[in-house]
Amino acid sequence: MLLSHLSGIATRAWLQRAAEDPTARHPKHLPKELDFRDAADLIQRLLISAPAGVELGTAVTLVDGELEFPPELAVRPRYDAVVRGGRFIGSIHVHVPDETGRFTPFFDPADLAGALRSDYAGFVELLATPDRVYALVRSNPYLYISAHHVQRNPLLLREEHDRELRRRGNPRAEDPRFAEAYRGASLYWFERYGMTLYEGALTEPLSRTVTASPVW
Ligand SMILES: [Zn+2]
Repeated sequence: MLLSHLSGIATRAWLQRAAEDPTARHPKHLPKELDFRDAADLIQRLLISAPAGVELGTAVTLVDGELEFPPELAVRPRYDAVVRGGRFIGSIHVHVPDETGRFTPFFDPADLAGALRSDYAGFVELLATPDRVYALVRSNPYLYISAHHVQRNPLLLREEHDRELRRRGNPRAEDPRFAEAYRGASLYWFERYGMTLYEGALTEPLSRTVTASPVW
């Protein structure tokens, strides 16, 4: 109990530093774990209440060093640095099964384009699927995609993501290899834009599994 309390405090302290000073996001300064168990109840509610195939979510802010999840906001409603008095640091959203029982297993091209757009103030994006929680950290603040390009072309990253999927054998959604291939195609963007990945179960701190190269 005490340990979980401490790791939550360490995570919030790092998020606060990273919001104020992007050098805290440098791969050399990234924590090994990020503890978002404070959000576990919210994530569970989102997973249960999201209609089939709908990416329900909310903003994540810091208020006096504490995490808040302003509930009335949809995913990426705006890109203000301050939301309801809190410092906007990113978003949280879920991928739930559609009518066929399948869900998008990882960050999709639209998620990545949203996280990377130049007018976006967030740097940590949480994604929950029915079996796992992921956190994407923009660990290189100098790599981004012009908001104008993202706006103009909704398929901006999609075409290259499809190409990456084809390079991985293009398994169909019902193929057991699909989730891994899909993840690999998205990780191509992680590498290209200096993003870092944390992941784990809903009930545990998320471990860093992919670390951006410390090129800046
Ligand atoms: Zn998504």
